Amino acid sequence: MGLSKTIWTRPSEFLRIHDSDAPVMFFAPCVLQATARRFLDGFPGLVTYAVKSNPADVVIENLAAAGVRGYDVASPEEIRLIRRIAPEAALHYNNPVRSRAEIAVAVEADVDSYSVDSHSELAKLIEMVPAAGKEISVRFKLPVKGAAYDFGAKFGATVEKAITLLREVAEAGFIPSLTFHPGTQCTDASAWDAYIRTAAQIASEAGVKIARLNVGGGFPSHRLNGVAPQLEAIFALIDRVATEAFGDNRPALVCEPGRGLVADAFTLATRVRGIRDDEHVFLTDGIYGALAELPLIGAIDRMEVRSREGELRIGEGQMRIIFGPTCDSVDRLPGELSLPADMEEGDFVLFHGLGAYSVATNTRFNGFGDLSIVTALSLRG
Ligand SMILES: *Cc1c(COP(=O)(O)O)cnc(C)c1O
Repeated sequence: MGLSKTIWTRPSEFLRIHDSDAPVMFFAPCVLQATARRFLDGFPGLVTYAVKSNPADVVIENLAAAGVRGYDVASPEEIRLIRRIAPEAALHYNNPVRSRAEIAVAVEADVDSYSVDSHSELAKLIEMVPAAGKEISVRFKLPVKGAAYDFGAKFGATVEKAITLLREVAEAGFIPSLTFHPGTQCTDASAWDAYIRTAAQIASEAGVKIARLNVGGGFPSHRLNGVAPQLEAIFALIDRVATEAFGDNRPALVCEPGRGLVADAFTLATRVRGIRDDEHVFLTDGIYGALAELPLIGAIDRMEVRSREGELRIGEGQMRIIFGPTCDSVDRLPGELSLPADMEEGDFVLFHGLGAYSVATNTRFNGFGDLSIVTALSLRG
C-alpha cells in the first residue's frame, strides 16, 4: 500500500488529477487528533487504542502525538508495531487465547496487561509471566444487546467462571482487573450499563477489589447521516454507572476504542467502472477491499459523488444496487443506496467515515484492491 508525502487541501483537489482506477483512502490527521482529544478529554479514565481497527503507521504516529499512551494489541506483530512507533506506551494484550510462543514475545516486550477468559489460558500465563506489577483482566460476557454484531460469541467467560478466574488471578499475585467488550458500533449507551453493574457483582462475589475496569471498545462512529455518535453521553453514563455500581470500591477505568477513534478520519474514494444498462453500478472497490465490513454491520450513507473534474454531482437521488469489481457475486453492498441521477462512468463515489476495518482488511482478490493512502487537511469538498 502506497503513502504519498504530499498533503492535499481536500479530496477534490487530488481527484481532479487522479488518472487511475485505483481506490484512494484520504486521511486527515487533524480529524484523527481532534477525535483523540475528544476521548482524552471526555473519557473518565485511560484511553487505549484497539490497533486492529487500523494499524497504519500514520494512525499510530498521530494518536501518539495527540497523547494516546496505551494500545490494545492482539498479536506479536501488533506488539512490535507499537514498540517501534510508541516505545514508551502501555501494551494491553487483550486476545484471551495465546500460544506459548506469543506469550514469550509479550513477556520479552514487557506487556503491562493481559486479558483472560478461561482456566487453561490463565494457567499458561501464571506459568510464563512473572506476576510482579503485571495485570490480568478477566474478560466476561453477557447476552448481547445494542451492538452491531455479537462479540460474546467468541470470547468472554460466563459470570460464574469470571468469579473463580478473578480469585485465581489475585491469588497468583497479579493485579486483578475485569474487562468486557460490549460489541461494535454501540449507538445505545445502555450496552455499557449492564456490563458495569455485572462487573461490580463479579468483584463482590469473588471478594476481590479490582484495580481497573476496562469497558472495551464499541464506541460508535458517524455512519449514517441521520445518526451522529453521542460520545459524551456514553462517557457520562459510564462514569455515573461506575460510581453507582462500585461505590467506594470504584476501580480506575480504561477504554479501548478502535472504530470510534479512527473511522471518521478517513474517506474512501472509489470510481464508477460502469453503469450496466443504466441499472447496476459497478465500483472499483467492494467487499473484498475497503468496504469489507458493510455486509456485516450495514451500509454507510455518508456518500458523495464527484465528476472526473472533482465537481459535486447534485442530481436527484436514485436508488441503486452497487457491486464491487470482483467476479464474485457476494461482492455487493447491502441493500440499495441513493446516488445522483446525473452520475456517469468514471465518476468518483466517496464514502466518509471509513477508517476502521477497511485499510486493515483490504485484500488483492481478483487483482483489485491496490489501495493507497493520501493525506489531506480536510475531508470536506
Ligand atoms: C476489536 C476490539 C476492540 C475495538 O472495537 P471497536 O468496536 O472498533 O471500538 C476493543 N476491544 C477488543 C477486545 C476488541 O476485540
